[in-house]
Amino acid sequence: MSDKINVTEIFGTDVFNDKAMRERLPKAIYKELKGIMASKGELTTEVANAVAHAMKEWAIEKGCTHYTHWFQPLTGVTAEKHDSFISPVTAEGKVLMEFSGKELIKGEPDASSFPSGGLRATFEARGYTAWDCTSPAFVRRDAAGATLCIPTAFCSYTGEALDKKTPLLRSMEALNTQTIRLLRLLGNDHSKRVTPSVGPEQEYFLVDKQKYLKRKDLIFTGRTLFGAMPPKGQELEDHYFGTIRERIAAFMKDVNEQLWKLGIPAKTQHNEVAPAQHELAPIYSECNVAVDNNQLTMEMLKKIANHHGLECLLHEKPFDGINGSGKHDNWSITTDDGINLLDPGKTPHENIQFLLVLAAVLAAVDEHADLLRESAANPGNDHRLGANEAPPAIVSAFLGDQLQDVVDQLISTGEATSSITAGKLQTGVKSLPDLPKDATDRNRTSPFAFTGNKFEFRMVGSSDSVASPNVVLNTIVAEQFDLIASELEQADDLQMAIHDIIKRLLTDHQRIIFNGNGYSDEWVAEAERRGLPNLRTMVDAIPSLVSDKNVAMFEKYGVFTKAELESRVEIGYEAYSKAINIEARTMIDMAGKQIIPAVIKYVSNLAGTINAVKATGVDVALATETELLELVSEKLGFAKDALAKLKVDAEEASAMADGEKRAQYYRDVIIADMAALRAPVDELEMIVDKELWPMPSYGDLIFEV
Ligand code: ADP
Ligand code: MG
Repeated sequence: MSDKINVTEIFGTDVFNDKAMRERLPKAIYKELKGIMASKGELTTEVANAVAHAMKEWAIEKGCTHYTHWFQPLTGVTAEKHDSFISPVTAEGKVLMEFSGKELIKGEPDASSFPSGGLRATFEARGYTAWDCTSPAFVRRDAAGATLCIPTAFCSYTGEALDKKTPLLRSMEALNTQTIRLLRLLGNDHSKRVTPSVGPEQEYFLVDKQKYLKRKDLIFTGRTLFGAMPPKGQELEDHYFGTIRERIAAFMKDVNEQLWKLGIPAKTQHNEVAPAQHELAPIYSECNVAVDNNQLTMEMLKKIANHHGLECLLHEKPFDGINGSGKHDNWSITTDDGINLLDPGKTPHENIQFLLVLAAVLAAVDEHADLLRESAANPGNDHRLGANEAPPAIVSAFLGDQLQDVVDQLISTGEATSSITAGKLQTGVKSLPDLPKDATDRNRTSPFAFTGNKFEFRMVGSSDSVASPNVVLNTIVAEQFDLIASELEQADDLQMAIHDIIKRLLTDHQRIIFNGNGYSDEWVAEAERRGLPNLRTMVDAIPSLVSDKNVAMFEKYGVFTKAELESRVEIGYEAYSKAINIEARTMIDMAGKQIIPAVIKYVSNLAGTINAVKATGVDVALATETELLELVSEKLGFAKDALAKLKVDAEEASAMADGEKRAQYYRDVIIADMAALRAPVDELEMIVDKELWPMPSYGDLIFEV
């Protein structure tokens, strides 16, 4: 078999993309469908039937026997229910492979077991999946054969969103409407549609599957709940951008090949800061497609890791004391005729449209910093944000030297007359070319950084969907564009009004800009002085979903109803409590059944040695052995007490009825109990004979992949 991959040949072969549609659909239907995809016109039965037929023929040629509506319920992972194409057996005992327009556009999974946060009582568990024609269908291959996957939205009988896609599509619509309105006022009469562009960079860890299987904490919770630091951590920074090991390279090659077939433009890959940590980034695409593609990418990383005897950890903080994993959400706004509204050009001070958009984005982020923080909240991310290698839980924006200078000019004089230019990078070596420099250096510590022609929201956790952050970004910016457009519509002198708005927004919201070190303690104090919210945990962030201001905004732009937001609050608390409860129970299990018995064995071995030596009658001082015995017994006692307390408190937590109070109890009591149990156990791990320790160590996991 040849190792060669012909990328252009395989790219998108498993996607029912534009090329496939053009080839297989009648011209008129193709045109109509493209119109529907661009929100011009409603889907008719005729179009649905024609598309379903073409899609089925295509899928069967690809070897598909089944199709599934693929959706993203609020569990955070994707869901699917498979149906075969087989129609009722004919009189001659034959089956036909059928797929109707009706089956394409609507599905009805038994929805009762998906979280709905009280939106839908279980006895009336009707939930529908509806075809999202803006995200292409694809073929997925696994042990079950090949399946045609149709991206869908998931709604209740009464049309409430039960998923992550529906609000995302609504927010894209809102942003489109308000941006086009603003562009018209600015004299642009050619752009017809705008969409957010999104490029999510995905971080992950790879560990050996056999070792993984020996750790119940990794299996049940995705992160280690015990584990002493190995003698070497990440301090040498020799892993970052280091040469990729053969085993990992083989995995990455497979991942790329599979992603390319699925039309996912996987572009960069490298080793990350922590040992065993890696990153994959695709080329950016339309927001909705990017979100779907990222879900698929995570699925593929997990699946392909298995084929290589590896386990892919997507958790935000698999190992204490070592960098966690995030997902940088690169975001910009693009028109259908190719204008990036976040592109400053070479002389940003002259680019009035860009400055207005920039001011609007900063105002949006300042007004709704709490929502942005919430959109990146999950239990895993609580361990990562603010843990000195990730942005803090405080939202701020970084502009860089060039833009900061323009903004400073605007705030102080209302006029910007110059832009700092970048010049050339002098290497001091004749044989090396002088490189054109970027106009600004990077700031890796900022949660919301301007990076050339896009903003990069870096708070998102590695295991999370990027849907929520983009729902928030799209909506808060749509709101600012709306407010600006309304003001401009009333203005006598448009140019004056634009200048005034830019100056006012930048002045009023400059507190959100921070170009310094976001990892420092000084920043936490400074942010507090500025009145910026610091929502440390997911439980602290959840209530922002239903603040009056945020509800009013979401309702105004038709992104969420109040009931939908309330349901998400309920689901958020529930998800948090469940996650911590599983962690607590896993610790109880591991400590009680594996760790304490191992330590007792060590203690009895040691005591046996001491006794045996004594029994010889030879007079030797057993000071070291005795001291060790005392030390281990003492720590064992601490562990036993902490375990007992965790058990009692976990019982109490499980019995609590109020969702919010229970989540707070897990945050305040259970997490502290877990830390109290972990501390003596990690110390014991450093003392007890490695042969007796019942699971692979951090060193085994991250340095021996
Ligand atoms: P980094 O050096 O931060 O890794 P990259 O150049 O690799 O930056 O880009 C990171 C991601 O941002 C990629 O997915 C890339 O396609 C995406 N990206 C680039 N330009 C834009 C843009 N205008 N809008 C949205 N995403 C973008
Ligand atoms: Mg990167």
